[in-house]
Amino acid sequence: MKSAVERFWEAVPEQVEGKPVDGAILTSAANCRYLSGFPSSSRLVILTREQAYFLTDFRYGEAARKKVRDCQVVVFQRREQSVKEILRRHGLKTVLFERETIPLVEAETLGGLCREEGIAPIFDNTLDKTMEGIRAIKTPEEIDKIRAAQAITDEAFSHILPFLREGVTEREIALEIEFFMRKQGAERIAFDLIVVSGENGSQCHGVPTDKPLRRGDFITMDTGAVCDGYHSDMTRTVALGEVSEEQRQVYDTVLRAQLAAIDTVRAGVHCHIVDRAARSIIEEKYPKAFGHGLGHSVGLEIHENPRFSPACEDIAQPGMVITVEPGIYLEGRFGVRIEDMILVTENGCENLTHSPKELLIV
Ligand code: ZN
Ligand code: ZN
Repeated sequence: MKSAVERFWEAVPEQVEGKPVDGAILTSAANCRYLSGFPSSSRLVILTREQAYFLTDFRYGEAARKKVRDCQVVVFQRREQSVKEILRRHGLKTVLFERETIPLVEAETLGGLCREEGIAPIFDNTLDKTMEGIRAIKTPEEIDKIRAAQAITDEAFSHILPFLREGVTEREIALEIEFFMRKQGAERIAFDLIVVSGENGSQCHGVPTDKPLRRGDFITMDTGAVCDGYHSDMTRTVALGEVSEEQRQVYDTVLRAQLAAIDTVRAGVHCHIVDRAARSIIEEKYPKAFGHGLGHSVGLEIHENPRFSPACEDIAQPGMVITVEPGIYLEGRFGVRIEDMILVTENGCENLTHSPKELLIV
């Protein structure tokens, strides 16, 4: 199995702006963790063609020496001094930086330092795109961590069903799911959990409130856990006590759209085709009710690329893990979303989500 650093050098272009690429300096949490295997708030990864370095300060030195892989650990006293020494040691001429995530002050400090050393800092998005490309294809090890996070999410769904009663509030439900996930071994929750009910359900990213559940409410729960840095993401909508004919139709439409989209997923399909498969079914009956993309990739971050969205020209490849999450949102009335995480395979896909999704009336 090739290391992440090796895969980086295979994927990065030989040249950028007509100059050979000699090295890269990365500061973002997810990219530094991906390359070194080590999460830290004090971090800098320097890649050269000969050697990769992970720089941190005294507070993380011991842990870094134990856990960092594929990079030489440098515990600095003065960070800029250590960076300079490394750049000189390897005689670099060009250094790539992350454009999308680097703080302005870091771009000024580290870019300036490069210029002082006669090195051209490059702030186009070459580095972002290269990292995005290698991170999009999950290794078997990464897929195992996503499976572990999703297993806890599935357990939390079964656990919460008996709690859904008239009078219980959205906040109480969200808190119970979070507490349960932590007890089951999640290192944290994947995002601020969404629990919305009744008329709040039309806010696709609504915040749980003190609203109590009422008979006839749809309850939408968008939840996920993190295991060893990797996220899961699942949404289920269930009904309390009873549903109207209209609610049932909306639910059936979302489910049909979701199944139709999953049916199109295989290596080689354009991402926008998957989005279209769901969107065309929903728009036929509910033209303005599905205002977000169909899905996003999941990994060290909850939202990664590529996405199943109308504008995404990327092609699905084996090893990508992407959500399929159509919804119908009827403003001020109710909403339904159903979300699974799908692993793209050579001939189709594997659904990593195992919670039931036929309409449940609890
Ligand atoms: Zn979600
Ligand atoms: Zn999602």
